[in-house]
Amino acid sequence: MSRDVFLPFYNIKEECGIFGVFGHPEASNLTYLGLYALQHRGQEGAGICACDGDTLHIEKSMGLVADIFSEKRLKRLPGFSAIGHNRYSTAGGSSLKNVQPLIANYAYGTIAIAHNGNLINAEPIRRELESQGAIFQSSSDTEVILHLIARSQQSQKIAKIVETLKKVSGAFSLLFLGQNELIAARDPFGVRPLVLGSVDGAYVFASETSAFDLIGAEYIRDVEPGEIVCVNKNGLESFIFSNSNKKSFCIFEFIYFSRPDSYIFGHTCVNTIRNELGRQLARESMIDADIVIPVPDSGVPAAIGYSTESKIRFDFGLIRNHYVGRTFIEPKQSIRHFGVKIKLNPVRDLLKNKKVVVVDDSIVRGTTSKKIVKMIREVGGAKEVHMRICSPPTIGPCFYGIDTPTRQELIASSHLIEEIRKYITADTLAYLSLEGLKSVVPNPENYCTACFDNKYPISFPVEKSDQLELIFT
Ligand code: AMP
Repeated sequence: MSRDVFLPFYNIKEECGIFGVFGHPEASNLTYLGLYALQHRGQEGAGICACDGDTLHIEKSMGLVADIFSEKRLKRLPGFSAIGHNRYSTAGGSSLKNVQPLIANYAYGTIAIAHNGNLINAEPIRRELESQGAIFQSSSDTEVILHLIARSQQSQKIAKIVETLKKVSGAFSLLFLGQNELIAARDPFGVRPLVLGSVDGAYVFASETSAFDLIGAEYIRDVEPGEIVCVNKNGLESFIFSNSNKKSFCIFEFIYFSRPDSYIFGHTCVNTIRNELGRQLARESMIDADIVIPVPDSGVPAAIGYSTESKIRFDFGLIRNHYVGRTFIEPKQSIRHFGVKIKLNPVRDLLKNKKVVVVDDSIVRGTTSKKIVKMIREVGGAKEVHMRICSPPTIGPCFYGIDTPTRQELIASSHLIEEIRKYITADTLAYLSLEGLKSVVPNPENYCTACFDNKYPISFPVEKSDQLELIFT
């Protein structure tokens, strides 16, 4: 098979947030709020599917949660159970058809699905199914799960799901909504987070606990790696569908992706970890400076940690405009630094003639850092700019659900730190070491660090190795 056949799929990497509730009279309203609190996990589109015990009703659109769901629209989602999804994908996969929940009618009724993560063997499964006549509605990897469930010869719904989940491989935190039940499942490695809670006697599931906080739900526990939890009118039932002796929680959830006020992966506070990353970074790469500033928002907790440890004063030297949408109109005449200024602007009074330490969570292509350093120097008037990154160099693309570009585009995959420093025009540049990162998280052996060490915990199907070759070289 020609390699080009695979190319479109590179773009279909998803960062997503999911939420579900069973047994609550305001199921769709709670799901709306849950998605609102998980908006950072995806801004491209969102959807809610609610069930009144008979029919599954669905509403979804491109855009932000608060813009999509008017009161009128939420009224079209009646029932005591609901699941919702926030989606982000890169341009190639961007269409309403890919916005979840996906819904399907099959021989045993109707089922909706919401998925956070990325399947690594969806393409061969899809081709196999297509060769047998299956028709796909979307280009999302998630749709193969629905097809496999519909085709399963098992007689029970749970058994159909278990059979399916044993066939797919990769990262998946999933919510299924049927007419009479809500089912949650997490891949055997537990790559993406998924938590279980309760509110007013109803069970709720969410990617992160920040969703629980908004609706006043209480955290019960994480859905375990390889676990299926089924909630119906008789209560909650749980079992392990696959026993992997290796956990691979995504370490990047702590570094960038999850909200700092969330508790994930065994109820560890994201903010605490980020703060510790900053402290460790300061221990590893102290520099004489006047002020420590974060790249907001993701660099804030680590910059506070860096400041505490280094005893260099912390302040907000860059102000972020929180209202930047995707639709702003670029000026026809070029304005200096426009691209970055629309989002960030330096506080000249804090930076002028200062030696500035700038803390960010990661460098991907290097373009953001380059613009920021230039702006701090030219607009802010800084004397020296020292870039500090609270993660190791990003050298490997993610195939498990974080939207990182191909290997060639990752600047650290082909450049030395000194070369990157020159490129971003900083006076000094330092990253956190991998050992330093691992020293901060509890039970570091339970984490996937593939983006920093190229050690991919979930092996790829043979055909995928072909793609990797293409990406890696
Ligand atoms: P770059 O300009 O490509 O080097 O991007 C680096 C910036 O992107 C950093 O400020 C990060 O906070 C942010 N970032 C890192 N990973 C991601 C991601 N997966 N999606 C969106 N932004 C990211």
